[in-house]
Amino acid sequence: MSAARDTVTVCEVGPRDGLQMAQGRMATDVKLRWIRQLADAGLREIEVGSFVSPRMIPQMADTGEVVRGVLAIDGLTVCALACNLKGAIAAHDAGAHVVAIPVSVSDTHSRANVNKGTDDQVEMVRGIVDWVRAQARPMRIDVAAATAFGCSMEGDVPRQRVAQVATALAATGVDRIALADTVGYAHPALVRDTVREVQDAIGARLTKLHLHDTMGLGLANALAGLELGIREFDSCLGGLGGCPFAPGASGNIVTEDLVFMLESMGLATGVDLQRLIAARGLLHESLPDEPLRSGVAAAGIPRTFRSNAPVRGL
Ligand code: ZN
Repeated sequence: MSAARDTVTVCEVGPRDGLQMAQGRMATDVKLRWIRQLADAGLREIEVGSFVSPRMIPQMADTGEVVRGVLAIDGLTVCALACNLKGAIAAHDAGAHVVAIPVSVSDTHSRANVNKGTDDQVEMVRGIVDWVRAQARPMRIDVAAATAFGCSMEGDVPRQRVAQVATALAATGVDRIALADTVGYAHPALVRDTVREVQDAIGARLTKLHLHDTMGLGLANALAGLELGIREFDSCLGGLGGCPFAPGASGNIVTEDLVFMLESMGLATGVDLQRLIAARGLLHESLPDEPLRSGVAAAGIPRTFRSNAPVRGL
């Protein structure tokens, strides 16, 4: 890869994907402190919560307050998840810079997750785009094509279908499209084939991969995406995360290890690995029963590690 000065955006989804599966609840003021620590470590994009029914996911009940509380952090792009127009309006009202909408390629998972089939959810996205574009304050609209690499309910998800859904999503006018391995069934060859198929269909509109580490292949899958030009990845500090409606899903790829890999390869993330690892402290203190993963945090940053020029301040 001739990517020596290339930069990669690591989007931390711990406060959303991570905390939604946690047994305990992180208090709002701790969330605010934790997000600030993550931003101070150099993460420029953080998904801070989701505007979903607090009955379904009580850990996310304070998302409005969290969004408002972190907007003042200099240079931070504040993302929030929403599954429908009501959620997107709440995200806009709170001042989120980005709304992220899940659209499951597997119809069965889509019905379990958002109570709508895939095609209906694409129509929902169209309605959200129309609403957001009519507002005075702009908000970026990202969509994650969930279960793009397999589904715990349906099994295989044909990549032609992934490309078809991605094409329909691109036609709604969303800004960015991600492919999500919601349950973590992907392997590098599948990532390569699917990313290529979707790139052929929608080109650079495919910007990001959201990967889970269920089978221990998360970073291998990230590498497969990198080699095809993907430069945005979701990850969770300590590898927390999962999907409440996708049985068997386990944690996201580990931010610490992803940053270690990218920086070691000469790709600039802008993240200070030492400070990033230090941000595990507050997470562990607040949710002591959650197991935190990370090779580099367990072993310590090796002497051979060299960080690339930080992108902060550019
Ligand atoms: Zn996820």
